[in-house]
Amino acid sequence: MNVRHRWAAATLGAWLVAFLLGGGPEPRAARADDHEEAVPEVAPEHLSVQDEGLRKKLDAALADLGDRGGSARVTELLKQGPSGGAGAAAATPPQPSVKDLTGPELYRRLAESTVVLGARFRCKKCTRWHTSTASGFLVGADGLVATNYHVLSEEGKDPKDVILALDRHGVVYPVRALVATDPGHDLALLRIDGGPFTPLPLARTDPEAGEEIAVLSHPDGRFYLFTTGVISRMAAFADPRNRFLRAPAETICITAQIAPGSSGGPVTDRRGNVVGVAQRIAPIVQTPDGAGSRYTAMVIQMAVPVSHLRALIEKGGKAESEK
Ligand SMILES: [Zn+2]
Repeated sequence: MNVRHRWAAATLGAWLVAFLLGGGPEPRAARADDHEEAVPEVAPEHLSVQDEGLRKKLDAALADLGDRGGSARVTELLKQGPSGGAGAAAATPPQPSVKDLTGPELYRRLAESTVVLGARFRCKKCTRWHTSTASGFLVGADGLVATNYHVLSEEGKDPKDVILALDRHGVVYPVRALVATDPGHDLALLRIDGGPFTPLPLARTDPEAGEEIAVLSHPDGRFYLFTTGVISRMAAFADPRNRFLRAPAETICITAQIAPGSSGGPVTDRRGNVVGVAQRIAPIVQTPDGAGSRYTAMVIQMAVPVSHLRALIEKGGKAESEK
């Protein structure tokens, strides 16, 4: 298998309306040191992100836990449906924070609570395992992680096998259960082993157009990448090609950049309170008269409003207490 294929396959295909022309982000160019060079360990206190080191840890853990059955398989989680958790008490997110944070403070705050969700899958072109990466964040100290439903399952994409969480220090957390899902708002709650974790607080209400926001996510394997912007509008949005999202649902449009791999990342206000979950992009593509080439004039970036996440956590908590 050539390098181009490998990188193309490793890019998370979990996008609902991602018409990036040419079929997705350009594959990264082959480098002489691909898979050869020893990668330094990620020092816990070091804020420089080592993508190759994190990816190697992720791939090694997926192979190890996959072979031992040490972490859940996405296909089985979806077949069994939401379990209501692994017997632990329902998570309660912390109270919203009232203190404005500086940019670096906000980065560190979000980085502490954001995880990489890595899953392995097989493509139809070869027999090897590939790795897809997406984003998620802690909403409960006991290991409750919020992400998009489409990170687990998307029609037309290769089914995912073992999934696990990785933090910015390179620590691996097995996924234990699918706690609750809301496919209609593209949300899922997973439980991971380990902790105690540092969850993010949730804003009490959905945001308004004009509010400043920040996103921490992992676009195309660029782990722990911080972007900022504003809520550009709140709008009803439907995706006729996704059977779960055909009904128009209130959606947050943001100017903070996201890309494939950002799915499930926290969108927060300046105080670090979650206002939404990074979800999808919709490029506005123009074809100039008489020209054969098309270009992307603007990319609309969207997120799921936090009110749906609050409702899902309550639902997951009820399911757990009834067990
Ligand atoms: Zn392949």
